[in-house]
Amino acid sequence: MQERLVELKTEALEKVAQAEDAKALQDVKVQYLGKKGPITEVLRGMGKLPKEERPVIGQMANDVREEISTAIDEKQTKMEEAALEKQLQEETIDVTLPGRPAQTGGPHLLTSLIEEIEDLFIGMGFEIAEGPEVEVDYYNFEALNLPKGHPARDMQDSFYITEEMLMRTHTSPVQARTMEQHKGKGPVKVICPGKVYRRDTDDATHSHQFTQIEGLLVDKHVRMSDLKGVLNAFAKQMFGEEREIRLRPSFFPFTEPSVEMDISCKMCGGEGCSVCKGTGWIEILGAGMVHPNVLEMAGYDPNEYTGFAFGMGPERIAMLKYGIDDIRHFYTNDVRFLNQFHKA
Ligand SMILES: [Zn+2]
Repeated sequence: MQERLVELKTEALEKVAQAEDAKALQDVKVQYLGKKGPITEVLRGMGKLPKEERPVIGQMANDVREEISTAIDEKQTKMEEAALEKQLQEETIDVTLPGRPAQTGGPHLLTSLIEEIEDLFIGMGFEIAEGPEVEVDYYNFEALNLPKGHPARDMQDSFYITEEMLMRTHTSPVQARTMEQHKGKGPVKVICPGKVYRRDTDDATHSHQFTQIEGLLVDKHVRMSDLKGVLNAFAKQMFGEEREIRLRPSFFPFTEPSVEMDISCKMCGGEGCSVCKGTGWIEILGAGMVHPNVLEMAGYDPNEYTGFAFGMGPERIAMLKYGIDDIRHFYTNDVRFLNQFHKA
């Protein structure tokens, strides 16, 4: 029986040494130390032994069991260490590798353009004024010489929220509010940038939401020639020194007289091409002398004060400046489009 135990021990230790993975090691453990294993069997057979031999064999069987168990544990620890070591080596981080560049954003093309236009007018002494996008009918229309039922209201299809409130259709109500705040005393010299809303069907040149920049100057002795001078300076700075401007008669309810301003076509230099539709001129903005009714409603004496106003669409200016063919590109947030206009 003693020989059998020594044999079992040698056999088991050899298998432990040969075990290549946790599964093999577990198998050895079950095979030799399990309830149905040979050592348990030896211990069961002890009843048949002479009384004096029992403690000796019992002790020996326990020692053999202990030795095999220790060998298995040690092997298991070694395997775990080796596995960890291997994992650490495989997952080593090479800190000398170049990192992935972070995606950086930038101002939207329209934001950049609006800021550029703001800077031009700030350079001419204008201040920036802003107002609410949800506007009352009075400031959006009535204070601008567009009483209820006025046919010119149809030019600006609107999103009404209640009978008296709407999404502003232009930034002109900011002009009305600013004049009112001055309580009939000049000078007022502001530009008003912001989002406006009209009930339009979206297509290549129309959007239900777009941006506007309007300008207003009210003071004593303001003349049409002052308007022309300011617009000429703007056009040259914005589109190039060689640009000519042209004023054509037009109609707006809040200005009298009203004009449209064209600039000479950059593409053909005035010869006529597809961009300017053969005319040599490109329409940029609307302007005029502030209507006496508008001045009066804002608290100014039209016999003492005069003023001019102008308004333009940054989208249209960006489309002309960069050759963009569809207004919807500005709003669909396609980074392939937007990234082209990031300044380095
Ligand atoms: Zn042209």
